[in-house]
Amino acid sequence: MSIRKSITKKDSIYIWTRDRWCCRYCGRPVIFAPAMKQLEKISPAHGYYHAHWKRQHSPLLDEIGATVDHIQAVSNGGCNSIDNYNTSCWRCNLDKKDKPLENWGKIVESLPSSWDGLSSLFVRFYDDESADSTDRQWYRLLCNLGCHSERSEESACTVLK
Ligand SMILES: [Zn+2]
Repeated sequence: MSIRKSITKKDSIYIWTRDRWCCRYCGRPVIFAPAMKQLEKISPAHGYYHAHWKRQHSPLLDEIGATVDHIQAVSNGGCNSIDNYNTSCWRCNLDKKDKPLENWGKIVESLPSSWDGLSSLFVRFYDDESADSTDRQWYRLLCNLGCHSERSEESACTVLK
């Protein structure tokens, strides 16, 4: 029997990008929570971010915050592999829990092509001075994807030192 492992940031970015930043269960676009955290810094107290993703304090994250879900729960024999991971909005993740997919819903196959979950906004507004270690890890991973070419190589390298 597998033991549930926490999903790495690297795998999370891979899954969200693979799934074009959409929930594979309901089809809605998802948003990258660290980008909402940045927006909260820029414009505080408008409900962009709260660590607990509660409706009252961060309504968008409470609906469509990006998470990674085990399609088949580890408690039901699912494994910790990329093929068993799906992008899930926070709502679907809470609702599905450990239920087997066949008893709960289905997988959406048709996904948009241009949505990025606000991840490029996160890269654009990233500020190394005020970033915490978690934000630094997200920034490095997103830069390594190489799909945010609007930020110059020089500035990215400076931060990555
Ligand atoms: Zn969903």
